[in-house]
Amino acid sequence: MTGAVRRIGLSASRICGAQRLFRRSSQGPTVLFFHGVEENIIDPAVQGLHFLLGTFERQIRFLRREREVIPIDALCDAVENQRFLDPRCVVLTFDDGYGNNLRLVAPMLKALGLPFTIFVSTRHISEARRFPMYYIRVALLYSEERELPSEALRQTFRIATRQDRLAAIRAIAHAVKTSPLEVVDKIVAECMALMSRGRWADLNGRFESEQPMSWDEVVRTTTLGATIGSHAHDHCILHANQSEAEIRRQVHTSRVEIEKHVGSCRYFAYPNGTADDVCGSAQVAVQSEQFRMAFSTILGEVTPECDSFLAPRIFAVPDYEEFCYLLNRSAEHNADYRAARQSSSLTGTAAAAGSD
Ligand SMILES: [Zn+2]
Repeated sequence: MTGAVRRIGLSASRICGAQRLFRRSSQGPTVLFFHGVEENIIDPAVQGLHFLLGTFERQIRFLRREREVIPIDALCDAVENQRFLDPRCVVLTFDDGYGNNLRLVAPMLKALGLPFTIFVSTRHISEARRFPMYYIRVALLYSEERELPSEALRQTFRIATRQDRLAAIRAIAHAVKTSPLEVVDKIVAECMALMSRGRWADLNGRFESEQPMSWDEVVRTTTLGATIGSHAHDHCILHANQSEAEIRRQVHTSRVEIEKHVGSCRYFAYPNGTADDVCGSAQVAVQSEQFRMAFSTILGEVTPECDSFLAPRIFAVPDYEEFCYLLNRSAEHNADYRAARQSSSLTGTAAAAGSD
């Protein structure tokens, strides 16, 4: 779908206010992915993965009215048994395991009787540690330093102006998505060193939205209808520059930790999850660990020919009309998904925006 066609369709959808009129014939169920939900957003540059509560509630009511929200087990049973599922079916997934999933998401979905799945990164749960891009964004946006000397990336980033800071975040985000885990850990340490502990404590309090759940909180979500899946151990992106040993450790450790705390772990969501972020070794590791399905952020619907270990998802966008419009036109991505699957290198294919 070209940008122009999408804009015209979206405008027509807004004017008519009747989202179902713009529904394209779906070929299979949809797995939607969200991250977090908050009552207030203080700084969108830091909290960009969280939807406002009212926005989220409106979207969920649309899904409840127009679609059938099913448990992830029902989707997987149908895929494994090659059984037809109504294309109106939707599976709700939430990546990363933010504390607001327990505080705001789970009670709402429980009250509406809707099942959902949360993919957690186990080291972040065990150590109450936030995600690399949080530390990088906050350090670069809120530090009073004028430059970031990075030994890990062998360059110095100028951060004198807001424009400099945003450019540095983009450059470092690219490095995070393509570097081995040990380099990412060094970059995070360098960014954290830009500010004092006191300043970090202050900012961490201001951005409570970015705090992952504890294990007790993860377990409480299961009593409210959540299925818990793995999002790797360190939120480590399983691209081809990671060692095979690291990839196996990420997949294995996360499964063992979730089984220890929650009881079972049958589903995996690749961190970031675009075609560039999932190497062949990652798919092999997930299959070897006896996961039932693994989800990417490659766009598309779950059709009979989809790969259970590189299943497509559709990202949720905050704008209500656009959310409905993109969901109703999810079938348009199926050809791109097939192309991504057929690409042996899994590179240069359509990938989702909004992933993390
Ligand atoms: Zn993630």
